Amino acid sequence: MADIGTEQRSKAQAVASRLWNSRWLVAAGIVAVLAVYVFAAGYVVLLACAALLIAAAMLPAGVARQSAEDAAAIEASGLQHLSGEYLAAAVADPLIIFDRTATIVHANAAAFAAFGGIAPGMSLSLKFRAPEMQALLDSILSGAAASDVVDYTEKLPVERAYRVSASSVGHGTDLYVLVFKDQSEARRIDRMRADFIANASHELRTPLASISGFIETLRGPARNDPAAREQFLQIMQNQTGRMARLIDDLLSLSRLEMKPYLKPGTEVDLRQTLDSVIDSLGPLARENGVAIERDFEEGPLDVPGDRDELFQVFENLLENACKYGQSGGRVVVTIAHSDDGPEPGIDVTIRDFGPGIPEEHIPRITERFYRVDVENSRTQKGTGLGLSIVKHILTRHNARLSIKSEVGKGAAFSVHLPAH
Ligand code: ADP
Repeated sequence: MADIGTEQRSKAQAVASRLWNSRWLVAAGIVAVLAVYVFAAGYVVLLACAALLIAAAMLPAGVARQSAEDAAAIEASGLQHLSGEYLAAAVADPLIIFDRTATIVHANAAAFAAFGGIAPGMSLSLKFRAPEMQALLDSILSGAAASDVVDYTEKLPVERAYRVSASSVGHGTDLYVLVFKDQSEARRIDRMRADFIANASHELRTPLASISGFIETLRGPARNDPAAREQFLQIMQNQTGRMARLIDDLLSLSRLEMKPYLKPGTEVDLRQTLDSVIDSLGPLARENGVAIERDFEEGPLDVPGDRDELFQVFENLLENACKYGQSGGRVVVTIAHSDDGPEPGIDVTIRDFGPGIPEEHIPRITERFYRVDVENSRTQKGTGLGLSIVKHILTRHNARLSIKSEVGKGAAFSVHLPAH
């Protein structure tokens, strides 16, 4: 054991003395390695500095070039000379520019037209006292929001619904803009749609309720009563017929709305069309004791249009004349050229000699579901949609419907179809 220890000690001593002898060589190596690293790092730092310097030199030049190009574009477009007033005048919606104290600085022509009595120098908070407008002004002037929107209704001179947006102009101007977007038409259409759906549902609900009532009676108290069963089944059949007519008319209306333009280039022979309408309504006229008389002008009676649609128009008008004018006992159908008016064309008039229509109802009679006498319309199997379908089709034909009536003497429905 003592021998091994002695041997190891002498080996270590030999290595140490060898290292000591070559100490300058080792030092030179370390210095060389460090130098390489320092040099390399320096080089990287140097490169980074150079890149930064180049970027710094290039960056302002790029920005300057871009803004110079923008300025040139603005100059070329004339935007530089465009005053806020011109810009406001070019906006079709009412627009008001105001300052930090909510005082009107400028209003465009549309704003003057919409809001009587506004003028520069006037306080907006006094002009628009509605809480929603006050809240809008507060939110924008307090800086709580850079822009904000509210719905506001102006009551006078006529009621109008606006969506008002307010925003800060910014760019150190201390000015703000109010823009009023008129929503009245969109709201009216929304209301019309809602009314239409409510009316249509009501019209369908009534026969449905009656059918379901009769089913219950047939299953309960009338279960063993053959006479009642026969009577109730007849009523149920009538009610399903009423629902089917209503659905047909609703589909007709929606089809017409979906294809608003007429196929050009087709001609309709009014003589032949009216002959077919009169033939098809022969049974109804006989049933009601009404004689249909023709008073057709000689010669060709052609107009541009859609034959099926015009058939539907005259069928509706003649059916109404036979139903509502039944007491007059006769209906006269006239076709004649009318070349003296502003638009030459052909007039088709369907005149009955029944009770007529009171004057106050005439302007509304083509509205959907409008009836002079609801019960009478129901017993006559009416849906209240016939004349609105007529009006729709005539609009597509660029044609006019005029209604003349004297109570007690009958009604005349005249269709003017332009010749070309
Ligand atoms: P309806 O399906 O009820 O017949 P219309 O739209 O065709 O619906 O007609 C609307 C209403 O106009 C009818 O309910 C009726 O009150 C009235 N009316 C239409 N034509 C005549 C007429 N020739 N004479 C009197 N009233 C009429």
